[in-house]
Amino acid sequence: MKLIVANWKSHKTDKEGVEWFQELETLLNTNPITLEKIRENQIRVVVCPPFPLLPLLHPLAQPLGIFLGAQNISSHEEGSFTGEVPTLIIADMCQYVIVGHSERRALFHETDADIGKKVTLALEQRIEPIVCVRNEEDIIPPHASIVAYEPVAAIGTGNNMRPEEVVAVKETLLLSQKALFLYGGSVDPENASSYLAHQQIDGLLIGSASLDPYQFYTILREA
Ligand code: PEP
Repeated sequence: MKLIVANWKSHKTDKEGVEWFQELETLLNTNPITLEKIRENQIRVVVCPPFPLLPLLHPLAQPLGIFLGAQNISSHEEGSFTGEVPTLIIADMCQYVIVGHSERRALFHETDADIGKKVTLALEQRIEPIVCVRNEEDIIPPHASIVAYEPVAAIGTGNNMRPEEVVAVKETLLLSQKALFLYGGSVDPENASSYLAHQQIDGLLIGSASLDPYQFYTILREA
């Protein structure tokens, strides 16, 4: 099984999000093999839109066998935390949540301690956290079952890290034996297959190339 995660970041209005799913559905309908692989869970696809799009996209994702994820979650439970979205509120719509993305660490000063709390809260609501790490120094919480290695220099720059280097870094991370290991950083339709061919790389976290349904579909076709 390969896990392919789309991170839309702060992009797409509700109209654009709906159109993205409609276009992806049209493309998948031309390729029953890939659609079947998604529905049978040989390829697990997770789309992480901005929070407000979740209820709108949930009914469009489900029939395709696509799961939704959040891009972040509060490190607090439900309560008086203005502007925060706790796990409870998204639990019906999201099976996954991205935690500790390097942009959140750098721009919003998230610490390993915050990330540890988020992982615990997500798991309490049966949401799978996808923990992003930038290097060997970022702490991987003990119960993290999906870890995405995203070297900062590779994110959004076109400077993707070679798969052999990614696999070498994996060896240095303190991953549990069962954890799924993803790579993220300038993955595109041209280079995706070089990662997916590696048994040690369980999937991909994709930013820019996930915004265009055709590029994303092309990556799914490689999985
Ligand atoms: C990301 O930000 O998680 C990411 C991998 O972005 P990009 O694919 O654009 O490098």
